[in-house]
Amino acid sequence: MRYEGVVYRPPSEANSLLIQATIGCPHNKCAFCAMYKDKNFRIRPVEEIKADLRVAQAQYGPNVDTVFFPDGNTIIMRTEQLEEIFRYTRQLFPNMERITLYGSTQFINRKSKEELERLKEAGLSRIHCGIESGDDITLSRICKGADAAAVIAAGQKVRTAGIELSEYILIGIGGRERTKEHAIASARVLNELNPEFVRLRTFIPMEGTVMYERWAAGEFGLLSPHEALRETELFITNLQAASLLYSDHASNYAYVNGRIPEDKPVMFSTIHKLLAMPEESFRPPESGGL
Ligand code: SF4
Repeated sequence: MRYEGVVYRPPSEANSLLIQATIGCPHNKCAFCAMYKDKNFRIRPVEEIKADLRVAQAQYGPNVDTVFFPDGNTIIMRTEQLEEIFRYTRQLFPNMERITLYGSTQFINRKSKEELERLKEAGLSRIHCGIESGDDITLSRICKGADAAAVIAAGQKVRTAGIELSEYILIGIGGRERTKEHAIASARVLNELNPEFVRLRTFIPMEGTVMYERWAAGEFGLLSPHEALRETELFITNLQAASLLYSDHASNYAYVNGRIPEDKPVMFSTIHKLLAMPEESFRPPESGGL
């Protein structure tokens, strides 16, 4: 396989075969994101992707059962291209159980419901979608390229097509100013969707991003560990979606995992114990965790 630059994948895909289908991100404007700043976006030719799949089969044998196709927003590829890649993947790896990729709201919304159904039929199991927030003001400030209504429309299409949805929320991205609105609106959007998975990350300003500049200039109120924990609590309190919630990332202060709603009491108990600890015992808000 040929890999270009740093290859990112969700922690839940740690054991998956990674085949880069796209390089970089076609949006690349989110104010907090430093992942693909050094890459010019392009879609790799399908024949190249298929060649990498053959190399993987020669190396690992035919029993690979999960594959993830980085980089950012591989869902942007033409539906016929994705179908061809997914079918070829299943042909080379007959025991394939899960095919996944990243897809942001605006790129999912470029596909019709019928196209998403075709992708499901071809083998697409799950889309990892960073919605970050359900608060329109926050979404606009971070240049996410989608508002809450678009997030809901995209999510509903994915769910209707029978593709699993893994939605990511960025704790603290609204700053002190929008912490309550961000928590409540994010839960409200997810309540409309009932995604299979909700995954939490906590915002850390990354050098080279607009949000870092805002924070360094004193224009953004970065949440302290306790404030981030309280935001997490408020978010979970308002979350009614029948989802599995995971904090499967080192940036988080609280590892709250489980099913909503039945595991909420354990989550709250974890958060309250952490809130009893001094702020200094957590990683500094502006660093660490990654
Ligand atoms: S869409 Fe995703 S990968 Fe692209 S800039 Fe935004 S957060 Fe980064």
